[in-house]
Parts: sequence; C-alpha cells; structure tokens
Amino acid sequence: MNVLVTGGCGFIGSNLIKLIRKTRPAWKIINLDKLTYAGNLESVAEFDNDPQHVLVRGDIGDRVLLNDLFERHPIDYVMHLAAESHVDRSIAGPELFIQTNVLGTQTLLEATLKAKSKVKRFLAVSTDEVYGSLGPTGAFTELSPLVPSSPYSASKASSDLIALAYHRTFGVDVVVTRCSNNYGPLQFPEKLIPLMVVNALKNLPLPIYGDGANVRDWLHVEDHCQALLLALTRGRAGEVYNIGGGSERRNIEIVQSILAELKKPSSLIHFVVDRLGHDRRYAIDPTKIKSEMGWAPTHSFERGLKETVQWYVNNSNWWERVLSGAYRGA
Ligand code: NAD
Repeated sequence: MNVLVTGGCGFIGSNLIKLIRKTRPAWKIINLDKLTYAGNLESVAEFDNDPQHVLVRGDIGDRVLLNDLFERHPIDYVMHLAAESHVDRSIAGPELFIQTNVLGTQTLLEATLKAKSKVKRFLAVSTDEVYGSLGPTGAFTELSPLVPSSPYSASKASSDLIALAYHRTFGVDVVVTRCSNNYGPLQFPEKLIPLMVVNALKNLPLPIYGDGANVRDWLHVEDHCQALLLALTRGRAGEVYNIGGGSERRNIEIVQSILAELKKPSSLIHFVVDRLGHDRRYAIDPTKIKSEMGWAPTHSFERGLKETVQWYVNNSNWWERVLSGAYRGA
C-alpha cells in the first residue's frame, strides 16, 4: 500500500506518519511537504533512513511535480493535510490561504484523477471552523450549514466543496473529515497550547484574546489520527465525518490548567484585543463516525493536557530550535 501524505512535516501530519509506521509497517509513505515555516524536518527525523518513508519537498500546487510523483509511485491513498493553518496569519494575508488551500487542493485532486494507477481514496482533512460560530448550546453535525468566518476557514470550506465536487462530477473517491482543535506533541508554538506552555516556561506574558471565554472542543492528535485512518479505510465515499474530542473548554481554563501544571503564577496572563471575527464557540457532534466506525477518543483531556505540557517541558530542544529558526536549516 502506497499512501501519499501531504503536509507530513507539520503537526498532525508528523503524528500521523508516526502512527502509520507503528500500526501499518507495510505501508510506504510518500510525504509531500513544501516545508513552509510550519513544516519541520526534525519532527520526522526518526524516519530519515527508513525506506518506508520517502520525503518529497514540494508544493501541492505544482502540477508537473505531482504528475511525476504519481507516475513514479503508484499511490493507493491520498491523505491530504497540507494547508496554511493559522487563522491569525490568514487575517494578516489571505492570499496564500487561497493559493494553498483552495488552488493547491484542486491541483492535487486533478493529479489524483489523472493518475494512471487508480487512487482508491482521497481523504481531505478539514476543520470544524467551516461551520462558523455556535451559540452557547448545540453542536455541529455534518449537515450544519457552512458559515466560515475567517479567510482560513473560508479557504478550508472551499477546499472541502471542491473535493466533494471531484467525487460527484469526476468519480474520485473522496472522504472529508472535519475535526475540532487538536493538541499534542510537535505543534508549532504559535497555536494556543504550545504558545502558552513555551511563554510560561520563559516567564513571558501569556496573551489571551478578548475575555478568554471562547470555547473550543479539544481533541488529542493521536485520537484524530486514529479517526483519519478509520475514515480512510472504512468511511463511505462522498461523505463528511465530524471528529471531536468531547472536551469543550474556555481558552482561559486551558491557560489556567497550563499555569497550574507548570506551577507558574496567573499574573503572567495578559488579555489582549480580540481577534477579528473571532468565533465564540465550536462543538462537534461525532455521532456519525462513532456509530459507523466505532471510533471514540481514548485520551481524557485532563491527562492528555498534562502529558502534552510535559512533552514540551521535556523537548525544549525541539521548540527552542523552532523559535530560533535553526530548524529551517535541518
Ligand atoms: P501545520 O500548519 O502544522 O502543518 C501544515 C503542513 O503543510 C506543514 O508541514 C507545511 O510545510 C505544509 N504545507 C503548507 N503549504 C504547503 C503546500 N503548498 N504544499 C505542500 N505542503 C505544504 O498544520 P496542522 O495543524 O498539522 O494541520 C493539518 C491539517 O489539519 C490542515 O489541513 C488543517 O487545516 C487541518 N486541521 C488542523 C487542526 C488543528 O487543530 N491543528 C484542526 C482542524 C483541522
């Protein structure tokens, strides 16, 4: 089995590759990554001499490279994770998000469609952010309307719809997954949890948007990756599956838990001007993937968060090299 993983040097992609190598040792992974600021070769360094992991540095929007890649490797599965993924960056500069997340996805779908050896499935990894903001109650189902707020979430919604159109119009076997906020090892320290841990360890202010009461539904990255493999092999073509950890927390609660775990004072907390268009609450109803595939998260949030905080404590070399920029020369 040959699986093309796009964005395999990012946070979720690198955790996914570790899981595949552990649980599906016969699979050969072609890891296509542009190595943007979010891609880190050190996150997959353990596979440097592994013949089952082939790293291809390149852009999902590069048609020539994709045609050559599909020619050289008969791909069975595409797991598409490559994206520009940070909401704040999409507000500062939306264009790259359209380029990568919309046009890049379409180029990858086109190459998948044209591949001589038929690709069995294209898994498009997406986000609950496509559904927009929830009120105080309820949860997103797969039938919730798409009301994205940020250029990031709008680009992901577009990516999902193009993928589903390639299924309906051209017959590409597509499954779309939409997950809630992931946490775990190897996440770039611009996202909430690693940013707060790193700043707390350095005794720097912890910036929290608005009143800190925005709610996210947290999912451990390993639980997410398990769900992705299930959706890849057992999902129904043309369907969308929501993946959620069932762990809704306010941002301020997360930060307080991190400070308690690190025994740091709450005086480090600094409320800052809210993000533009900041969604108030996300919550996922994962009934469909649970009932069709028997998936359930295995990490309790409290234990998962403690372990994650400890991972960043024990792997300061990883994030220090990210902060200094040294990882880009790896
Ligand atoms: P990330 O930013 O950590 O990693 C993205 C990876 O994609 C990087 O390795 C980067 O180099 C690569 N990449 C970017 N542009 C590329 C291009 N044009 N061609 C090839 N590679 C490119 O992101 P992540 O957090 O691992 O997220 C992975 C996927 O999951 C994304 O599609 C994201 O939208 C989705 N998602 C993430 C979360 C989360 O909480 N992290 C939640 C929901 C959905």
